[in-house]
Amino acid sequence: MSEQYQHRARKRFGQNFLHDAGVIHRILRAIHPRTEDRLLEIGPGQGALTEGLLDSDGHLDVVEIDLDLIPILTHQFGQRSNFHLHQGDALKFDFNSLGAAPGSLRVVGNLPYNISTPLIFHLLDNAALIRDMHFMLQKEVVERMAAGPGSGDYGRLSIMVQYHCRVEHLFNVGPGAFNPPPKVDSAIVRITPHDVLPHPAKDHRMLERVVREAFNQRRKTLRNTLKALLDAQSIEAAGVDGSLRPEQIDLAAFVRLADELTNRANSNPIGTEN
Ligand code: SAM
Repeated sequence: MSEQYQHRARKRFGQNFLHDAGVIHRILRAIHPRTEDRLLEIGPGQGALTEGLLDSDGHLDVVEIDLDLIPILTHQFGQRSNFHLHQGDALKFDFNSLGAAPGSLRVVGNLPYNISTPLIFHLLDNAALIRDMHFMLQKEVVERMAAGPGSGDYGRLSIMVQYHCRVEHLFNVGPGAFNPPPKVDSAIVRITPHDVLPHPAKDHRMLERVVREAFNQRRKTLRNTLKALLDAQSIEAAGVDGSLRPEQIDLAAFVRLADELTNRANSNPIGTEN
């Protein structure tokens, strides 16, 4: 980068810039961008991944919040006809405004740790637009996303992401690959929305409600932790053993509990507020 464009990493934007060419190459190989792709990069920073994405000749939109990085990115990539820069907050970005066909968007990002979970939930709200997502995240977050029942990492994030998507923990990246180095280990995850949901809930909001309530007190039995939402008979009617703890039951069982709650709300609308 020329003197004119020196940039100091900002903590408040979670800026840890990738500088390890081997890691950058490995990420790009996992993404495998192609000419016909609609790519969206969240937080391009100083362009570590952007360059390789543009080289695929795919159509690339990038969303960057830091005003100081805009001239740097424009200087570096402004001449490339497949580069489309949006300054703003990815958490508030309207992904529909990109005009991408349903199921086409390939989202990529070395995400700032402070926004990764809300951003993934924001993207899941637009899951129908998305073909796949490749993210660099804090390793613990990837482990929580990919976890199954019986694991201490299994919880709300695992269930809500796996409801919509297949999750693959691809590989880990140490702090030395970044400048400045973060205090935590990172990992690359591939998240692919299901074409057809394997366990569709009658009402997705009820699933969110049951899962949030269940994991509020993950050490308690389901009978106890879900007391305010479902009585013992309803839990049994869902085919779930109420003496188990939330971390012991799978997504399909959570969906059955959510459907039981939906049935109850439909047959007794006044009871929906308990
Ligand atoms: N992709 C670059 C790399 O790998 O070197 C930068 C990664 S750095 C961890 C995160 C980037 O996301 C920074 O450029 C930061 O300014 C940007 N960012 C932080 N919060 C953002 C937000 N809410 N919306 C869009 N970009 C954001």
